[in-house]
Amino acid sequence: MRRILDVLKQYYGYESFRKGQEELINNILNGRDVLGIMPTGGGKSICYQIPAQLLDGITIVISPLISLMKDQVDTLTDMGIKAAYINSTLSSEEFDRVLKNAKSGDYKLIYVAPERLETRSFIDFLEHVNISMVAVDEAHCVSQWGHDFRPSYRRISELIDRLTIRPIIAAYTATATEEVKQDIIKLLNLTDAFVLTTGFNRENLYFEVEKPQNKFRTLRKYLNQHKKESGIIYCSTRKTVESVTDKLNLLGFNATKYHAGVPEHERTANQEDFIYDRKQIMVATNAFGMGIDKSNIRYVVHYNMPKNMEAYYQEAGRAGRDGLESECVLLFSASDIVTNKFLISNMNEQNQEHAYKKLNEMTDYCNTDKCLRSYILIYFGDTDTEKECNHCSNCNNDIELTDITVESQKIMSCVKRMNERYGANIVASVLKGSKAKKVRDFGLEELSTHGIMKEYHADSIKEIISFLIAEDYLGTRGTKYPTLALTTKSKDVLFGNEKVLIKRVIDKHKEEKDSHYV
Ligand code: ADP
Repeated sequence: MRRILDVLKQYYGYESFRKGQEELINNILNGRDVLGIMPTGGGKSICYQIPAQLLDGITIVISPLISLMKDQVDTLTDMGIKAAYINSTLSSEEFDRVLKNAKSGDYKLIYVAPERLETRSFIDFLEHVNISMVAVDEAHCVSQWGHDFRPSYRRISELIDRLTIRPIIAAYTATATEEVKQDIIKLLNLTDAFVLTTGFNRENLYFEVEKPQNKFRTLRKYLNQHKKESGIIYCSTRKTVESVTDKLNLLGFNATKYHAGVPEHERTANQEDFIYDRKQIMVATNAFGMGIDKSNIRYVVHYNMPKNMEAYYQEAGRAGRDGLESECVLLFSASDIVTNKFLISNMNEQNQEHAYKKLNEMTDYCNTDKCLRSYILIYFGDTDTEKECNHCSNCNNDIELTDITVESQKIMSCVKRMNERYGANIVASVLKGSKAKKVRDFGLEELSTHGIMKEYHADSIKEIISFLIAEDYLGTRGTKYPTLALTTKSKDVLFGNEKVLIKRVIDKHKEEKDSHYV
């Protein structure tokens, strides 16, 4: 058998293996199932592509990344590795041709979309060829605890059971929580698997959390400092993607967009514009990015806080795959928590508790004053981490606590005076002293709390309200039009028994400070 290092040099032109690759490949070649848990950009593909070439039969690669299959297969073909793909973009003639060629032994690797596992013709095909390995990319999709659950992934083990000779199963993911790992082992039916987790640290990534008063202004400033560099801006909704893209283009930035509502041909064109550096900035929802191999992404900015740490690290990890210094910036606002809580309240009840727990862990990342990198690594189970990395905004900046007890008391008194019957917008208008028709119609101008925060910007008042809700200093009733109410914690604040503090980062490196609520 050819030495695997020779294959690496000959086909890929790389001199040495990265951490974990050699062990995973050797275990596969010894006939053992494997589970490789490596960070995004860690080099998982090689871990199934190299053994695929050295094993006798065909390797089926199951991947949810339909839009990238063609590129992956073209790259392999260019390198002289025989490969094909099967997904919904093929015509029935093309599909038949691939199957025919495969039966004559033309391919070493066939990429398939998981949905294919449910079609009769494909199942028949599998039963008539020699499948030596099934590689499952993005294996966390099998678990509903992962952030990308795909029901068709559940069919994989069923399908493998039908084969006369059981192939080796090689599963790969960048999601490392224990529950996802256990789910992969169980649901893919891995036997005596060799499980390898490389460290999760990405030394070239700088982590930063900011709490700007005005996110767009902060983003603009950031982008002005990163002109000519390529980066992704993740937003939580399609609407935000649209408005951020439009505003950036109006300001002369070279931005494109990606979300599930953009027509498919346009989405693909936008993705290519970004990948081939025709557009510098990609503004997108989480629909963008899985499997994108663009190595020179210098920054990933999260315009909104994602729903959990898994999603965050995977998205942020798309920066700096070439190993060069890159930045991952999260622009947090308390309203992000409110949005996520709202989304969770619409979820299936049995998943809600778990989702809230994950959301709290994500929020803690934004609020911690300790090293961000060590928070991430500990979260993913890397135990031998340094306490301080000196390469994140918490290690490099000073933390300042701002006391907003008085503001909180004013807001709470107003909620009380309004008999806990109104939502955040109208409470903020009353505090600001608005004379809007709605305020007058309800007789709210007469309240003693009308105008007691008139010197504040209305958005700042709303931001504080969101923060108070997120921290349970205020409660909400109803989901569609939630009204504000007091909680046990609000009483402690109103009676002066508890202070309300907001964490602020004082950036040592930037001259201008853009992070304050009031
Ligand atoms: P993942 O699937 O883990 O996110 P990929 O398999 O796409 O990562 O690999 C990321 C990048 O690293 C690719 O450009 C790949 O060619 C490169 N790479 C992988 N293994 C090595 C290696 N041993 N030496 C140098 N570069 C590598």
